[in-house]
Amino acid sequence: MATPNRIHNFTAGPAALPLPVLARAQEELLDYQGKGMSIMEMSHRSAEFSEVIAAAEENVRQLMNIDDDYAVLFLQGGASMQFAMLPTNLLGEDTADYINTGAWSAKAIKEAQIRGRVNVAWDGKDDAYTRIPAFCEIEHTAGAAYLHICSNETIGGIQYKDFPDAATPLVADMSSDIMSREIDVNAFGMIYAGAQKNIGPSGLALVIMRKDLAERCPDTVNTMLRYSTHIDKGSLFNTPNTWAIYLVKLVTEWVAEQGGVAALEKKNAAKAELLYGAIDGSEFWRAVAEKESRSVMNVTWTTPSADLDATFVSEATAAGLAGLKGHRSVGGLRASIYNACPQAAVEALVSFMAEFEKNHG
Ligand code: PMP
Repeated sequence: MATPNRIHNFTAGPAALPLPVLARAQEELLDYQGKGMSIMEMSHRSAEFSEVIAAAEENVRQLMNIDDDYAVLFLQGGASMQFAMLPTNLLGEDTADYINTGAWSAKAIKEAQIRGRVNVAWDGKDDAYTRIPAFCEIEHTAGAAYLHICSNETIGGIQYKDFPDAATPLVADMSSDIMSREIDVNAFGMIYAGAQKNIGPSGLALVIMRKDLAERCPDTVNTMLRYSTHIDKGSLFNTPNTWAIYLVKLVTEWVAEQGGVAALEKKNAAKAELLYGAIDGSEFWRAVAEKESRSVMNVTWTTPSADLDATFVSEATAAGLAGLKGHRSVGGLRASIYNACPQAAVEALVSFMAEFEKNHG
C-alpha cells in the first residue's frame, strides 16, 4: 500500500487510525457498495447504514465479550457528554464516589458535583497525580450510587492495572485505553469512551452499560439525555454520527484481523516496554509516572529541562515524529502509543531519543 507523507504520529487524540482503515474508507468514499454515494450521504435508516451500525455493535460485543445484559450505545458529544449524562441518569439523591487520579477524573467530578452529592474517595494531589491508589486507600461511601474511575489518565500517563472491587456499580472512563487490553466487562456497571484514540474519530462516545442501570433515571431528565432512550432506539433516536460509526465498524474489523484485543494487548505491552526501557536506561530522561502506575497508552517523561523538552519536540517534529509535546497543563513530553501506533513508530522514537541524548546530553 502506498503511504505518501505518512509520519509517525504520537498525538493524544484525535489520534492515528490504522492505515488499512483509512485506505478502505477512501476506497468506499465516493461509491459505497455500488450505491453511487458515500455512507455519509445516506439515510441513517437505510438498509446499508442499518447493516453498518449493527455490525459495529456486534464487533464491539465480540471483541469485548459483552453479555446481552449490557447495552452497547454510540452517542454524540464525546466522553465529555458522558461526564454529564452519567450523574444525570444515575446519581439521584444518593452519593457517588469518584476517584481523582488527574485531569480527566477532575472533569468528571466537576460535572457530577453540578448534579448532586459526590464523595472524592481518593485524591492523588499529594503525589501530583503520578500514581493510581492502592485499593485499601479508597474511602467508599456505603450505598453509593456508583464508583467512578478513569482507567487511564491521558494527560498524566497513569493507568489502573486492575480494578477496584466495589459493592456499588463501577463506572469507568476508558477513553484512552478501550480495547487496548482484555477486561471483564461484567465487573463494570458502565464503561464509556470517546472514540478518537483507539476506536475511531472524535465526536462519538461508545457506552457499554448494564441495562438495568438505565432505569434509575429521574422523570425530569429530557429525552435525548436519557440512556433508556438510546437503548430503546438502538442509538438511532436522532440522526447519529453515521460517519464515525462507520469508522468504528472498520476499526473493529481491523482489531479482529490483528487477532483481537488479546493480541493487541501483547503488542501494546511490547511497545510500552521498549519506550519505558529507553527512558529508564539513562539518567538523561525522567519518567513522570510512578513505575507501577505507568500507562501503556500514554507515556509521559521529561528531559533535564523545559528548554530541552521544547528542543526535543521541535527536532522530533522535523524528523517526522509528531505529537510528542506534553499536554499544555503539565508540560514535558508525551508519546501516545495507542492500538494503531505500530512497533516501528516506537522503534523510530527510541532511536531518535538515543541520537538526541548524544547531541544534547
Ligand atoms: N476522558 C479522557 C480520559 C480523555 O482522554 C478525554 C479526551 N482526551 C476525554 C475524557 C474527553 O473526551 P471528549 O473530548 O471526547 O469529550
